[in-house]
Amino acid sequence: MLVGAGPGDPELLTLKAVKAIQQANVILVDDLVSEDILRHASPDARVIYVGKRGGCASTPQRLILKMMVQQARHGQTVVRLKGGDPFIFGRGGEEFAYLEAAGIPVTTVNGITAGLAAATSINASLTHRDMAHGVIFMTGHSKPDEQGVDWSQIAATCHRSKLTLVIYMGVSNVGSITTGLMLGLPADTPVAVIQNASLSTQREVGCELKDLADTFLREGLASPAIMIIGNVTAGLKALRQPESHRPVRVA
Ligand code: SAH
Repeated sequence: MLVGAGPGDPELLTLKAVKAIQQANVILVDDLVSEDILRHASPDARVIYVGKRGGCASTPQRLILKMMVQQARHGQTVVRLKGGDPFIFGRGGEEFAYLEAAGIPVTTVNGITAGLAAATSINASLTHRDMAHGVIFMTGHSKPDEQGVDWSQIAATCHRSKLTLVIYMGVSNVGSITTGLMLGLPADTPVAVIQNASLSTQREVGCELKDLADTFLREGLASPAIMIIGNVTAGLKALRQPESHRPVRVA
């Protein structure tokens, strides 16, 4: 099973994800999945950490794929637990295709993707109809063998068509992303950066597009973080009080 673990807060797991984790004999886990979430696992389950951060691989992807196939062929109930939603970035699509080609039946379970959790945590509606006609999810970190994203073109499209831009994995390239976006969007476009969305360590900072790269430096923002660019983040109270806001938890 390919299972989304959501953005981090264990209360944002789906009931289906909890059930899958409980039933698994083998769980392969990304590094953005917290211990609290693994509490649902059976004490007998084998938990294998296969995380990788910002491109520096700890377990090569082909080894993860092989392990999944091997364990499934041994009759184990295998859960591949991935941060957020399994099919939003993070190679879930590749893993699904590989398993299917190997003849392994795969079930997929949604998770709340980080971009959405980040927006909701600051009460930003990504598609507020007064300010946006839609939303684009982009990666700030292309495959090494690919030409990078043309940020000026993306910015121009967002400006012209009133689209909110949500960027994943953008921390290490924030300088070039900011420079590119400035070529297509007004310099004062509101931006929100949310680090560790939904966790007790969450931080959120608001700024204008022209100050985005500087804000990262000044505030010491780091991965994992989501950037939300567009008018839907303008004037949010959560952003005016960066240190005091924390995600609301229902007791
Ligand atoms: N499948 C995941 C995304 C994997 S890519 C999902 O649907 O959320 C990894 C990127 O997701 C990180 O670089 C970061 O940009 C983002 N991310 C994941 N968890 C996050 C969190 N709790 N807070 C902010 N960003 C997060």
